[in-house]
Amino acid sequence: MFDKILIANRGEIALRVLRACKELGIATVAVHSTADAEAMHVKLADESVCIGPPPARESYLNIPALLAACEITGAEAVHPGYGFLSENARFAEILKDHGVAFIGPSPEHIRIMGDKIEAKRTAKRLGIPCVPGSEGGVSNDIEAMKIARDIGFPVLVKAAAGGGGRGMKVAQTAEELSNALSTARSEAKSAFGDDAVYLEKYLGQPRHIEIQVLGDGKGDAIHLGERDCSLQRRHQKVWEESPSPALNAESRKKIGDVVGKAMRDLKYLGAGTVEFLYENGEFYFIEMNTRLQVEHPVTEMVTGIDLVNEQIKIAAGSPLTIKQEDVTFSGHAIECRVNAENPETFTPSPGKISYYYPPGGLGVRIDSAVYQGYTIPPYYDSLIGKLIVHGKTRNECLARLRRSLDEYVVDGIQTTLPLFRKLVRNPDIIDGNYNIHWLEKFLAAGGMKD
Ligand code: ADP
Repeated sequence: MFDKILIANRGEIALRVLRACKELGIATVAVHSTADAEAMHVKLADESVCIGPPPARESYLNIPALLAACEITGAEAVHPGYGFLSENARFAEILKDHGVAFIGPSPEHIRIMGDKIEAKRTAKRLGIPCVPGSEGGVSNDIEAMKIARDIGFPVLVKAAAGGGGRGMKVAQTAEELSNALSTARSEAKSAFGDDAVYLEKYLGQPRHIEIQVLGDGKGDAIHLGERDCSLQRRHQKVWEESPSPALNAESRKKIGDVVGKAMRDLKYLGAGTVEFLYENGEFYFIEMNTRLQVEHPVTEMVTGIDLVNEQIKIAAGSPLTIKQEDVTFSGHAIECRVNAENPETFTPSPGKISYYYPPGGLGVRIDSAVYQGYTIPPYYDSLIGKLIVHGKTRNECLARLRRSLDEYVVDGIQTTLPLFRKLVRNPDIIDGNYNIHWLEKFLAAGGMKD
């Protein structure tokens, strides 16, 4: 086992990793930009190193500075959290070359899954069902038109290097295709430096359902059930839950078995998520994330398995200690991503938290790194905390979430808490009756104004 881990991240996820390290008796090194000197992950770590100025590319994405921090502190492994360098194969390789373990999958698997065209090809080869679409990238408009007519409109143009919903454009009709292609290409070029795009059938009313996996890199792998992340704004998840209100035990087992076998065949190492759209009883692979995800606590709450603890043990070379038959699901969990944003316009609202009172009680978990008097810097994403609630049933979970949201006080900045207070009282949400377009429609119809 490692003696010391460097956490190459900030915010709630840095704290989440730190907690797992402490429980394993592993010393922690926090890194931070000059804007984060007062951050909670810095205060709670055994050691901390300032790695640069506020912009992420000069600090949290600064590989030489991170390597130097490992060297100075003698950290034997790096946990990348999510975002930043978590899906950077080159970073994983460089660490390895310097004798530092990367707590994550092999660079090869990061690379394959980071290119969505290659990821889809691999998924297909592993027997995972995919969204109908182009066999690879589409290089010109004439070829794209032919493929789009074969698949049938509407189609979705997607960036091979995509992430965070960027470089994605819908073409409802043939007339819209050329425009969608050029917009997606230029968005992809500016966001990822790569303008390769591909086509997919645009599904009208799917749910987003993803399967959590863990593999030991030697051919053993298990799945930990699903998360339903259909409530999205601009293709970004807002609310996640497990189990999905749309699945039954049979469909859960069916997709879980397919994914588990695929991960064993791939010899996947570490934690990962295989993402699907689910429509009319069918699953369609869209991508795989080769890292811990923001919404991982939902799975932890229903399985009782500490995913970060497992990631660390696997990276240290231990075999999987959990067998598929040991994974049991208990009750229901929902996560709300609380952002420092205006709840109607979603413009960021950084600043000082003048008063902070988080909810508590049975089944209530807060993953957050903020505190009263803390100033949220304007340089990073606006997630300030995750409220995760567990109940024996979905109804109990919703009731607990309702009262937790009413207790939660964050003053001095604007947050998206009012959005969740509306959602948790909405009849469609209470019935579990929503798909990936529900939230956008709710907002467009003035749902926040009623
Ligand atoms: P990213 O990596 O940018 O997040 P994903 O491929 O994971 O992109 O897709 C993000 C979201 O976009 C999905 O959860 C879903 O809401 C929507 N989406 C993706 N592919 C399709 C599709 N073929 N049809 C309809 N919606 C889609």
